[in-house]
Amino acid sequence: MNSLRGGIAGIGMTSARTRDRLVERLRSHGIRSEIVLNQIRSVPRHLFVDEALASRAYEDTALPIGHGQTISQPYVVAKMTEALLDGFEGEKVLEIGTGCGYQTAVLAPVVKKIYSVERIPELLRKTKQRLRELDIYNVQFRPGDGWAGWPKYAPYDGIIVAAAAQVVPDKLLEQLAPGGRLVMPVGPPGYQQLTLVRHLHERFEQSPLGGVSFVPLVPGS
Ligand code: SAH
Repeated sequence: MNSLRGGIAGIGMTSARTRDRLVERLRSHGIRSEIVLNQIRSVPRHLFVDEALASRAYEDTALPIGHGQTISQPYVVAKMTEALLDGFEGEKVLEIGTGCGYQTAVLAPVVKKIYSVERIPELLRKTKQRLRELDIYNVQFRPGDGWAGWPKYAPYDGIIVAAAAQVVPDKLLEQLAPGGRLVMPVGPPGYQQLTLVRHLHERFEQSPLGGVSFVPLVPGS
């Protein structure tokens, strides 16, 4: 048996009931997309955190993942994924801030290809291995600075940014395909507005999706 999928975590924390409870909570907080709710139900979040925190993995809360970073709250991952996929057309998604790869794992089975950039190489190494063990292969990773995007594979039909900045980086807007969608927390440290940007060919349209608190998109890393 695959050791990651095997019985390391107690039955209580991985049981269908525990996951269903989380899904019902997200539904009651306004997540409507069955595709997204299914993904939240099926991705084993306890495998993305330290064993010591595994019993809390299906709580709707952010948790530390080392290096001063966090795994995002399931509601926020669901909200961002739903906003990205609503009317999404195309194949390629750029993700900035891979972290432990939870958001990546939620998104990977429902899009064709993800390009994911993370500034902490050590985090990325572990994440690559974790996603392989979960049989996720349609993700290309790169250690680097998300402020610059990943020009090589641009334009992207969707861009999802898991770290906050005062403005949407110009380079990311440049790499968003016409008709594409970008989701990102925008605002000062501590409190940001989750923001949807749509590339409407002749202009960009921004809409607020609600208040969030993300770690910063570190400049010039
Ligand atoms: N996507 C993760 C959350 C990651 S937290 C999840 O699913 O839970 C945000 C991540 O953004 C951290 O891993 C952090 O190292 C990374 N990050 C911060 N600034 C960055 C930058 N300029 N470029 C790339 N990654 C960055």
